[in-house]
Amino acid sequence: MKFATRAVHAGQEPDPATGSVMIPLYQTSTYAQTGIGEHKGYEYGRTGNPTRAALESCLAALENGAYGLAFASGLAAESTILTLLNPGDHIVSCDDLYGGTYRLFEQIMSRYHIHAEYVAIGDTAGYERAMRPQTKLVWLETPTNPLIRLADINAIAQIAHAHHALLVVDTTFLSPYFQQPLALGADIVLHSTTKYINGHSDLIGGALILNDEAIYQQLKFHQNAAGAIPGPFDTWLTLRGIKTLPLRMRQHEENARVIARFLSEHPRVESVSYPGLSSHPDYELAQRQMSGFGGMVSFQLKGTMADVDTVVRRLTTFALAESLGGVESLICHPATMTHLSIPRELREARGITETLLRVSVGIEDVDDLIADLDQSLFSSSDLKGASE
Ligand code: PLP
Repeated sequence: MKFATRAVHAGQEPDPATGSVMIPLYQTSTYAQTGIGEHKGYEYGRTGNPTRAALESCLAALENGAYGLAFASGLAAESTILTLLNPGDHIVSCDDLYGGTYRLFEQIMSRYHIHAEYVAIGDTAGYERAMRPQTKLVWLETPTNPLIRLADINAIAQIAHAHHALLVVDTTFLSPYFQQPLALGADIVLHSTTKYINGHSDLIGGALILNDEAIYQQLKFHQNAAGAIPGPFDTWLTLRGIKTLPLRMRQHEENARVIARFLSEHPRVESVSYPGLSSHPDYELAQRQMSGFGGMVSFQLKGTMADVDTVVRRLTTFALAESLGGVESLICHPATMTHLSIPRELREARGITETLLRVSVGIEDVDDLIADLDQSLFSSSDLKGASE
């Protein structure tokens, strides 16, 4: 079955009890058992729920993976991966990554004597140099949040495996529609389903997809034992969102291409990062490992933080908000929002400066989005001397 068919049907046979075409919402915490040790496969809602099981099968099918696991948030999924580690273990991670992931590594895992070392995202040889005998995980986010840079999944998978480490790839920014890391050598694929997979900015969720049965059993054990599961209604909504994932992703990308081009030609814009622009440093890699460029664009505005504030206040269709991947367009100021938990000097050294803005391009009419950006950038008389 092709992707769009799997998005509508995978894991979702008509309900055997009633024939319901849509998977029922099993909003229950427990299940009646007919006798001691006799039940229909479900005992308690943390351990299993049929709506969640349908979502997990669907997610596995979308990534062409054997197993899927759903969590209460992207970070809950991340924490569950990290329960595979023991004190003294080491993580090699790309340096441009979601601020919450950095905070999890630095402020929580470090207390358990599990330390992360960061490699410049595009420096493939740097990952080899960073590997130690204690390295158990290599962690990539590609494309990255917020700079939209890419890591070479296949080359880094080979490095990780040569050192007997697992490769985790957070592919939230593209969804399985545009990138499938398992096929490129990743061991565990991570999504914040809060973003494109659900796609409607109305829930928080996470997912892991993988092929290895032994690791799946460990993660499934931790999903139940640590308990960071999503509620039934959120899993039901996520399944509903997934049905339109291909349509949404195509529109996000079509709009993002137009916006990236518009911004790159705008006199108030210093630089634009979008992997679909031939000027992007990872343009060639993008064409090799992704089947589309996605809907995320970041750009540096000319001027100061006050100018940035003026621009975002003037936007009317774009909302100033954290998060991404919903049908509506959002703009975010990473330095004070999503990446505030990264110390300032480190943030700035990595390029997350006060004038960086990140746009999650929605599926609205692109003419309206361009008009909104245009009035906001052009009418900013406060951008005095910005082009000097
Ligand atoms: N990974 C990436 C790339 C993200 O952007 C985010 C959140 O913004 C997360 C993981 C964490 O996901 P959640 O907010 O669902 O916990």
